[in-house]
Amino acid sequence: MTVERGHAEIRDAVARLCADFPGAYWREKDKADAYPAEFVAALTRAGWLAALIPEAYGGAGLGLSAACAILEEIHRSGGNAATCHAQMYTMGALARHGSDEQKRRYLPGVAAGDLRLQAFGVTEPTSGSDTTALKTFARREGDTYFVTGQKIWTSRAAHSDLMLLLVRTTPRENAAKRGDGLTLLLADLRAAKGNELSVRPIEAMLNHSTTEVFFDNFRVPVADRVGEEGEGFRLILSGMNAERVLIAAECVGDARFFIERASAYASERVVFGRPIGQNQGVQFPIAKAYAQTRAAELMLREAAAKYDAGGNPGEEANLAKLLAAEASWAAGEACLQTHGGFGFAREFDIERKFRETRLYQVAPISTNLILSYVAEHVLGMPRSY
Ligand SMILES: Cc1cc2nc3c(=O)[nH]c(=O)nc-3n(C[C@H](O)[C@H](O)[C@H](O)COP(=O)(O)OP(=O)(O)OC[C@H]3O[C@@H](n4cnc5c(N)ncnc54)[C@H](O)[C@@H]3O)c2cc1C
Repeated sequence: MTVERGHAEIRDAVARLCADFPGAYWREKDKADAYPAEFVAALTRAGWLAALIPEAYGGAGLGLSAACAILEEIHRSGGNAATCHAQMYTMGALARHGSDEQKRRYLPGVAAGDLRLQAFGVTEPTSGSDTTALKTFARREGDTYFVTGQKIWTSRAAHSDLMLLLVRTTPRENAAKRGDGLTLLLADLRAAKGNELSVRPIEAMLNHSTTEVFFDNFRVPVADRVGEEGEGFRLILSGMNAERVLIAAECVGDARFFIERASAYASERVVFGRPIGQNQGVQFPIAKAYAQTRAAELMLREAAAKYDAGGNPGEEANLAKLLAAEASWAAGEACLQTHGGFGFAREFDIERKFRETRLYQVAPISTNLILSYVAEHVLGMPRSY
């Protein structure tokens, strides 16, 4: 793949950093179910995790399309940015909706790597995709919220100092509209871990440091509320568009990893006296995945450009995520099949990436929910849920 993708210098620099973290590094972490702390530290030191933090607060002040280039290259190299991408996608809500005082208080520390903002608590066991049904409740007493409830699949909570947390502040039955009554908090976890806050790891199909988090009268100062009380759902939705574009970039990176590996292996593996890649049955799925990847990339670029121009491109962000997740899955499937039995051998890294890229059909939003969004909000069909 030699096509100009933009941000060439960023891509080269990230690729050089990733070269210090080869497949063997990720395999070891995967085997031990361990957090890739060294990789995250290197990325932080180089300033890449602060890409979206405005310069005034110590970050690089880059746009979403540059952040996409960073994540894409990490995935293309065989690594996994899911270990630390929350620091970027929480910025969608924080940079746009956080107060100046909050930004001054937290962002320089986050940019310098002294404060880790790696956790995003939305999903709950009983609400699932229906975010507006979440129950974790923040009771306000004076200047403090007391949060009680449970989140699930809160990735990296054990490796984060701060969490962007969506809670209910008005009981659902008292909310005028479905999206009302939810509030966004920038919660400091440090003092509460092990006390009003407990974090339990979930063993999962992939190495993702994902957890369940239990809140028992966990205190958050009202000063750490992002935006207005009751407006949290709308704020999180605008941040989620940025998240979807960033995730789409990870998918494109995965797809490129798979396609490069599959094309190389198909050209060199000789069976029946000729390279397997000489057979159209082997070539075509790889070529098709490439076509899907390029199409997804175009949508991703459009979504990022609109976001960087100050827009909130729900349609493009959702489509980019849908198409890119499908492309990476098609590429993973083609790559695994091309490698035959060797695709299952851990040392090739393909089975690991295959497990990792499968997640994007489900999280951070499942394919069906994107299709529902497109049907209802883009095509004007009746709401289905
Ligand atoms: C590894 C991992 C990491 C995660 N990290 C985070 C995190 O850091 N923070 C966080 O908040 N969440 C996180 N999540 C949660 C993730 O966002 C959810 O799993 C996802 O949104 C789907 O919700 P659910 O699992 O409850 O599935 P459900 O909502 O129970 O849905 C199950 C299935 O039913 C389908 N479905 C549901 N309703 C409809 C409908 N109306 N029409 C058609 N189909 C429907 C869905 O598409 C899905 O396939 C993570 C999940 C995983 C697995």
